[in-house]
Amino acid sequence: MKGHKDTIYKTVYQYNRVPISAADMERMQEIARDCREVRNYVYDRYSSIHSLSKIYPGYTVQNEMTRCGLRERLGLPSVYFYLSIFDALGDIKGRWERIKSQIEKNIRDNPNLTPQDRHYLRFVMKQSQCFESILAGGKPELKGNWKESYETVCMGVDTHRLDQYLRRQVRRHLVKPHTDTADGFPVSPKGYRYGDHGIYLSMKENRKRLFIPLTDNNRYSRQIYILLYPEENRIMINVPVEVRQRHPAGYDGETGLAMGLKCMFVTDQGRAYGERYLEYQSALTDYVRERLPRHQRNAKTNPGMKKYNAGKARLEKAMHDYVNGEINRLLETERPGTVYLPKLPAQSKAGYNGRVNATVNMWQKGFVKRRLAQKCRERSIELVEVFGKGISSQCSRCGAEGEKKEDMFRCPACRLELKERENTARNVLKRGQARREKRERGSL
Ligand SMILES: [Zn+2]
Repeated sequence: MKGHKDTIYKTVYQYNRVPISAADMERMQEIARDCREVRNYVYDRYSSIHSLSKIYPGYTVQNEMTRCGLRERLGLPSVYFYLSIFDALGDIKGRWERIKSQIEKNIRDNPNLTPQDRHYLRFVMKQSQCFESILAGGKPELKGNWKESYETVCMGVDTHRLDQYLRRQVRRHLVKPHTDTADGFPVSPKGYRYGDHGIYLSMKENRKRLFIPLTDNNRYSRQIYILLYPEENRIMINVPVEVRQRHPAGYDGETGLAMGLKCMFVTDQGRAYGERYLEYQSALTDYVRERLPRHQRNAKTNPGMKKYNAGKARLEKAMHDYVNGEINRLLETERPGTVYLPKLPAQSKAGYNGRVNATVNMWQKGFVKRRLAQKCRERSIELVEVFGKGISSQCSRCGAEGEKKEDMFRCPACRLELKERENTARNVLKRGQARREKRERGSL
């Protein structure tokens, strides 16, 4: 079972207190059927060889599904729509993993393959670009070290024959997944609310929630699964619960972080670390921009160059010391067992002036993130990256699209007002938790 290494999971169940009316049951069954339709749609479109490059990490699928019009046609709330997509994608990825391990076994057992053949096949199966282009019938185009390694494994083997063998193997094991059952559906915290001795569930009718009285008053804030028993007028809610064992050093719990230039990190509790980061980083980039000697001839012996290098090293050290110190302070104060942080945006050239641009560039190269990753490793803290798109404009309480103004976030739907970065960090935490629950459920 995956997840934090000090965590044990179990499922708890919740039940309805009074029989569920036929009409309400039908409303939930409709959602279950729609979720099934979304899943089958994803299976149909993304389980073939040609979609392999789209499913890792899956944003392409998510974007294409957003545009395909299916959600609008079904009138399905987005919480159910996207969870069904993630479920289906998880199945497709899991199926690819199983195909690969089956083929690896066949490669091991095939007496007609030489050790070099096996070495080649294992390499191209591990290197995703190789794997994809060979399955698509082409030759992989690799760069740098990968190219060299590929050329090395190609030596002395009949790549044409082996590629054909691999394609045959994949075709033999590739089956399109499909599901006929619609006995339930997943709900993330966005789609439900506990209260009044029961649970309110999002329904297809706009803004209307279905209230189901429950036999207990326990509340959870994670992805749950509603199982329907229409013949018995009842439901069962499955809740994966973690039983976390304490980290040997007392590190525990989960922290979501927003990352930025002006301040290195803001936590989901609103605490800031590295508020002077930009000063250090700008001092360095300004120095590089202004002092770099114009004439770089005889760079090693040029006295101007020597002085420049010494000055640059001094500023670099100051910046590194500051970053390290602030990360230590963060980890020692928060003592998290798991840290979630958003994936860095793709490098963009637009929108900044020259001075900031150099700084942004250095920031985007991920120095701060690499230091954080290193320090988490040293303390056995799990560091998890979450999908970052739209994360700063979404309301962390209700999920609606909000407005950002002067470092504040305001939600027009639920009236939440919060510092922008704190709102982002809360979303990071939520996405991280949803992701982990998804994985747990997938591996149950
Ligand atoms: Zn809101």
